[in-house]
Amino acid sequence: MDNNINWSELRFGYIKTDYNVRCYNRNGEWGRIEVSSSETVTMHMAATALHYGQQAFEGLKAFMGKDGKIRLFRFEENAKRLQDSAKGILMAVPPLDLFKKMIFQAVKMNRRFIPPYGMGASLYIRPVLYGTGATVGVRPSSEYLFMVFVSPVGSYFKEGFSPVSMLLTKEFDRAAPLGTGKYKVGGNYAASLTSMKKAHDEGYANVLFLDSKEKKYIDECGPANFFGIKDNKYITPKSDSILPSITNRSLEVLAKDMGLTVERREVEEAELSTFEEVGACGTAAVISPINKIHDDQTGETYSYGDKPGPISTKLFETLQAIQIGDIEDKFGWVDIVE
Ligand SMILES: *Cc1c(COP(=O)(O)O)cnc(C)c1O
Repeated sequence: MDNNINWSELRFGYIKTDYNVRCYNRNGEWGRIEVSSSETVTMHMAATALHYGQQAFEGLKAFMGKDGKIRLFRFEENAKRLQDSAKGILMAVPPLDLFKKMIFQAVKMNRRFIPPYGMGASLYIRPVLYGTGATVGVRPSSEYLFMVFVSPVGSYFKEGFSPVSMLLTKEFDRAAPLGTGKYKVGGNYAASLTSMKKAHDEGYANVLFLDSKEKKYIDECGPANFFGIKDNKYITPKSDSILPSITNRSLEVLAKDMGLTVERREVEEAELSTFEEVGACGTAAVISPINKIHDDQTGETYSYGDKPGPISTKLFETLQAIQIGDIEDKFGWVDIVE
């Protein structure tokens, strides 16, 4: 059963595991779940995924607890979000039960790739849905593949929980106000690559996008949601082009539970100067604290100190402790994979 993985050296990347699971939808009907040990897929060269971007995905993690139990965090929320993404770009909608069966099966069959407890590592689960039917004219496919593969991933923070810097630039938009920003579709990522490269080239972790219409309000933060803390408040932007992060929604609940007031509302760029702590949140890192945000047009730099703030740290530690089963799951967020 040895898999020769050096758990402490793991990064956030792809590592081959034993199996993936697949299910086709043909003419509106879901077929049987197939188990595969192949890393490749064969599809028609005219598949809608390749030409018209009919593709959506999800990302969630399985954690090994101290008690030897495998835990999943709020997977039903990922299932519902995939359904929303599928509806948003007219793809076949995987039933919740199919989603559950496939992720449980993918985790169980690759049990030996789940990193041991206590290393900050986990098994990343990647469900992906896309149009495989051949069409040359623009229309939705009549055939879809829903597939789930997994990969062990390391702790996001190699040198401990530490802050990153963000580039605020008005040069690029990630998603249009009435567009697909609220769906987890590959097209949004394609649209963000040039801006991300610019940020990386200039020494920043990622881009903090402003709303595409007015260039006034904070929107998505790279591939993550944004939040700010001030006056005992957890504040996160409200926008139709932001992907509804499950991590963000969970942090809102934890913040409330800690006695903070939660506000989900428009956040103007100018308000950045008033926050005590700011961060990006999502499944990959839970929270990436932000130490500075640089606006490349105005030359303004908003700074938050080089250490993660106390509230971000407490939120981060609490959410992680729930995920791995170190503290009580009082919100009913965790499912055990038997
Ligand atoms: C997946 C994703 C997030 C984070 O969502 P979680 O459910 O917290 O993992 C945030 N923004 C974008 C653009 C995403 O694709």
